[in-house]
Amino acid sequence: MVNLSCKERGFKEIKYMIKCRSMENKEKIALTGDRPTGRLHLGHFVGSIQNRIKLQDEADQFFYMVADIQALTDNAERPEKIRNNVLEVVLDNLACGLDPKKTTMFIQSEVPEIAELTILFLNLVTLARLKRNPTVKDEMKQKGFEENVPAGFLIYPVSQAADILFCHSNIIPVGEDQKPMIEQTNEIVDDFNRIYGDTFSRVKHLVGDTPRLIGIDGNSKMGKSLNNAIYLSDSYEEISKKVMNMYTDPNHIHVEDPGKVEGNVVFAYLDIFDSNKKEISELKKQYEKGGLGDVVIKKRLIEVLEKLIKPIREKREELAQNPEAVMKILEAGTKHAREIAKKTMAEVRKVVKIDYF
Ligand code: ATP
Ligand code: MG
Repeated sequence: MVNLSCKERGFKEIKYMIKCRSMENKEKIALTGDRPTGRLHLGHFVGSIQNRIKLQDEADQFFYMVADIQALTDNAERPEKIRNNVLEVVLDNLACGLDPKKTTMFIQSEVPEIAELTILFLNLVTLARLKRNPTVKDEMKQKGFEENVPAGFLIYPVSQAADILFCHSNIIPVGEDQKPMIEQTNEIVDDFNRIYGDTFSRVKHLVGDTPRLIGIDGNSKMGKSLNNAIYLSDSYEEISKKVMNMYTDPNHIHVEDPGKVEGNVVFAYLDIFDSNKKEISELKKQYEKGGLGDVVIKKRLIEVLEKLIKPIREKREELAQNPEAVMKILEAGTKHAREIAKKTMAEVRKVVKIDYF
């Protein structure tokens, strides 16, 4: 055992850390997650899940997080709801093809190092910056928070930066509403590295083919807290009912009337989910000219969505028979995530100079 002076040891450690970092930079580490606030819907599927399935094969490491702490930021009085939906969102992901052999699936609250990292990151962010985040602004308006916004909700983008960085992930498959969170994460990375030395790498978001799926009510985003979603677990009857109630063109009263395609939710969905682009383009022309009824296009959409959802729904029903097995997957994944988080926190404590004993 060679006896090194403190200075030499420090130098060696820094060199080792730089080496680790440059190795990590070459590695593709992806992370994604869902708030357990309800079952997942078509917006999740096209916005993020399709990319998740690809990334679990392409990335060197892939993490899937159930963001229960984040969900509690605007549901503090509804702990039962969050608890019950942990299983639901995991079932949805497994049914879509997320594979626990390739993906570390874990629960945010069971990795307390993330909360520790959040506290340190909060020192790098101003109140003005938090209030400027456009997604948080929109969500605050939707929820009617105004000045009475829970502090935890206002800072959730910072806690999201900690979710991303605790495992040094650098690719984040998300919907468009999450872009501002990625920007804020990168600002935190830059500030942290400037103050404490090169510790974290900048991250990239990966948005799906449909970055923001509109709701069945025509609202700019399908959201599980917005009551405007078609769920990946919906039955044929539920899909039919929702599609039949979809907004089309209020002036298209009789079949022979010319109709508007723009702003028509049924056509917006057909554009995304119907693979026969040629036929859809013909139908649009016919609709605009007059002579095509809403029921025809709605029935077509019902069949297209049923074809997509049926296998997911059936797989989900099968997996739901054994909730214990799903919890075991989460337990194992959480254990792995926690080991990584502990390592990162040890490194962070060192550079922030709070490693006392
Ligand atoms: P909540 O209303 O509780 O916030 P949500 O429907 O927004 O729920 P989240 O759990 O917040 O769902 O989001 C999980 C992931 O799915 C995120 O990456 C988000 O960007 C993406 N996503 C959610 N809704 C849509 C949508 N309508 N279109 C595209 N992507 C979406
Ligand atoms: Mg959301």
